[in-house]
Amino acid sequence: MVDPEQVIRRYQELHNLRHAGNDFGMSHEWVRQIVNRAGISTARIANPKPEKEERFCKQCGAPVNSTHAHYCETHRTPQQQAWRRYQRIKADPERYAQRREILKASKKRRRGRNEEREGTRSGSSWTSTL
Ligand SMILES: [Zn+2]
Repeated sequence: MVDPEQVIRRYQELHNLRHAGNDFGMSHEWVRQIVNRAGISTARIANPKPEKEERFCKQCGAPVNSTHAHYCETHRTPQQQAWRRYQRIKADPERYAQRREILKASKKRRRGRNEEREGTRSGSSWTSTL
């Protein structure tokens, strides 16, 4: 017969029901009963990993396989992010108008820069040095 005192002591060393049981050739369930009868809790060891919080895609509701992402693999791509940003802006008339103004201004600026570049190229210093 196995001495319960020994089993309990082994369990307290290993903090693992299965490993303690292996040392005495008994099941983890048997170890648990002996340890519990001695007034020692095995609850922490029986459930060592806390349940991970399940996450779902904000857009389609599919499970998300990441602990920090808000969207699934499909809806996490840069294109999808840009699309969402655009949808948010479009939903807000004031911001949409603002964005159009910015786009117009930047287009004008780009055109101006291109003309500048053209100008420097036509009378450029690097062609004349050839
Ligand atoms: Zn999704």
